[in-house]
Amino acid sequence: LPVAIVCVGMAGSGKTTFMQRINSNLHSRKQIPYVINLDPAVRSVPFDSNIDIRDSVNYKEVMRQYNLGPNGGILTSLNLFATKIDQILGLLEKRTAPPPPPVPSAANPTHNRPPPQHKPIKHILVDTPGQIEVFVWSASGDILLNALASSYPTVIAYIIDTPRTTSTSTFMSNMLYACSILYKTKLPMILVFNKTDAQDAAFAKEWMTDFEAFQAALRNEEEGGSFGGVEGGNGTMGGGSGYMGSLLNSMSLVLEEFYRHLSVVGVSSMTGDGIDEFFDSVQEKKEEFVRDYQPELERRR
Ligand code: GDP
Ligand code: MG
Repeated sequence: LPVAIVCVGMAGSGKTTFMQRINSNLHSRKQIPYVINLDPAVRSVPFDSNIDIRDSVNYKEVMRQYNLGPNGGILTSLNLFATKIDQILGLLEKRTAPPPPPVPSAANPTHNRPPPQHKPIKHILVDTPGQIEVFVWSASGDILLNALASSYPTVIAYIIDTPRTTSTSTFMSNMLYACSILYKTKLPMILVFNKTDAQDAAFAKEWMTDFEAFQAALRNEEEGGSFGGVEGGNGTMGGGSGYMGSLLNSMSLVLEEFYRHLSVVGVSSMTGDGIDEFFDSVQEKKEEFVRDYQPELERRR
């Protein structure tokens, strides 16, 4: 069975650029993926998609017709699209089924090779709307994701804007958000620290494996008087005193457990750096899906 890779992440984290990168990587290895775009509001998609939500719903028209703002328009478009999930699964099934037995024909007289258009696909790539909550916290997102996960091993690629997560506070909120998505979707997750051409992801990997290092970074920011650039140093952060210190200490235990379940990779969608490592993680998570997640999904059904 092919593996479905669903890209989620904050607006601007680089989901679409990442999709473009993994898509071209697969093409160069002659493993043509099946590509689905679920972002109704994107102006242009920089890759060829097999299914594009924009072909079946016009987001601008939906906004006008139902008198909605941009977010409502995206959500309603996704809802309308989710009603067609049966058709989508049907299309996918056609492309992922094993090739039909070869038939003798003039073009294929030895009939020992299936026609090339029946080469089964190994990857399904899914891009999601820029606004993460529209997909992750909506009924239609739920329907689409569940439909996919009940037919194929499915992994979440959570894309992170590395240059914008170098402060301890943005890092922590990003990790908590990823944690809530893991809990919500109950699917294996790969944290993709994107844009490593602009900012190395080593700091993030260190913070995820060594809480002491994270606390040291907290203290540093505090001394610099620039905690998160928002709160200002109030002398209670990370030192173990005050509510923030103790909250952070408790959260670190939760996050430690959370981190244990994740794969973490640093990539640059711009240069292609780290993409091979990403596909190694996909393979790992696919096996994990089959071993741990699928039985759970079936039990819940
Ligand atoms: P999306 O909203 O998550 O789909 O994000 P996009 O793929 O549209 O990318 C948002 C911005 O980040 C664009 O300006 C991209 O050029 C930029 N971007 C994406 N990936 C990378 C990367 O690996 N390195 C750098 N430097 N910029 C990137
Ligand atoms: Mg996008």
